[in-house]
Amino acid sequence: AALETTEILVIGAGPAGSVAAAMLRQQGRQVLMLERQQFPRFSIGESLLPQSMEYIEAAGLLQDVVEAGFQYKNGAAFVRGERTTEFDFRDKFSPGWGTTYQVQRANFDDVLARGAERMGTTLRFGDEVLSVEPGSPARVQVRRPDGSEYTIEAGFILDASGFARLLPRLLNLESPSNFPVRGAIFCHVRDHIPADAGFDRNKILITTHPEHVDVWYWTIPFSNGCCSLGVVAEPSFFEKYDGTDLEKLQAIVGEDPNLTRLLKNAEWAVLPVRTITGYSANVSSLWGEGYALLGNAGEFLDPVFSSGVTIAFKSAQLASDCLARRHAGEQVDWEREFAIPLRAGVKTFRRFVEAWYAGGFQKIIYHPDPQPDVRRMISSILAGYAWDTNNPYVADDTGRRLRVLEELCTG
Ligand code: FAD
Repeated sequence: AALETTEILVIGAGPAGSVAAAMLRQQGRQVLMLERQQFPRFSIGESLLPQSMEYIEAAGLLQDVVEAGFQYKNGAAFVRGERTTEFDFRDKFSPGWGTTYQVQRANFDDVLARGAERMGTTLRFGDEVLSVEPGSPARVQVRRPDGSEYTIEAGFILDASGFARLLPRLLNLESPSNFPVRGAIFCHVRDHIPADAGFDRNKILITTHPEHVDVWYWTIPFSNGCCSLGVVAEPSFFEKYDGTDLEKLQAIVGEDPNLTRLLKNAEWAVLPVRTITGYSANVSSLWGEGYALLGNAGEFLDPVFSSGVTIAFKSAQLASDCLARRHAGEQVDWEREFAIPLRAGVKTFRRFVEAWYAGGFQKIIYHPDPQPDVRRMISSILAGYAWDTNNPYVADDTGRRLRVLEELCTG
């Protein structure tokens, strides 16, 4: 068979891959996107941040997303025992979108991939990338669903393979995350939460375990009467529970009075219970000759602030901007123009994630008498505006400002 060639090969049709493909199609690049699974397929990562809307819009996919009928989202609610607080993302420091959606990823990822296809991306489901020989062009070996294989020569590769982390594994780029190993047990429930139960379906609910400050639950309402429900903890915490994953999840949810009350009529596990462990990951480099790593194929921190898809989109946008300059014949410095700007926002999120698990961030958000302007700056971070250096808590490179705020809120 004749050797197939493409200007750009995108590996994986998750959010990072599809948004990158759509952006590159807007530039007129030839894009081939290979996805080893058949869509629609389940994926975790269901609560978006308002910042992500900017990238969906820039990719030309806004109408597709709006028309899909997902659950509107305008903020985050936090509960710990008797304490509650909520952030409305429309009231924030940074300019830009203040609302977004909570999405069933099976549908959301399909909508984005089909949108990228409509814009001229060649999209193949069931085709798995097996090996990559970097270079210009790179040579890529692919297996079709029927087991037959073919080779592609690609001018540039965007690895958007997510948790599969294809190029980091193939090219020995894996580097340890500095977060401890944590895991999650989760499922979808038909929640039957009464309208008068004090549950705002327009917000994600993050609940801290009544006794363990580093154990937390997510409750993410969808537009179809279901919620995504999950709990995150270190493996040693889960080991204390017996039974099936469903029984473990139910037992841990049963330890929180507010969630127990909300979910008293719930039909459990309308989707099978799943678990995932050790998802935090990093790489020694986010790019190399002829390739760049997008989304979870690069660095993944932690789910607590729902930042994963936003970071995936940001990586797609930075990479497509770099590829536009490359196509125009400019010399692209991938470290300076892709990796450093991407990692800057990731670093902002990291400071907040660390402060969350250490308990300091929770002191800040539950403080009874917060300063309105500081709260708007925090709201911006929670809304995903982690790259807006006008926000003092983004510019706070050493984390000093966050520590001072923690101290002010302690005692
Ligand atoms: P993915 O969505 O993983 O897509 C990668 C695609 O590549 C897959 O479809 C896969 O089949 C395909 N692929 C893999 N290998 C190959 C191959 N060799 N050939 C072809 N195709 C391949 N993020 C949020 O924004 N909000 C949340 O609320 C949130 N909650 C989370 C909760 C938990 C417990 C965890 C672990 C993560 C959460 N995340 C959340 C993070 C989110 O899941 C990821 O950041 C996001 O899915 C990354 O998107 P991606 O496009 O990089 O990869």
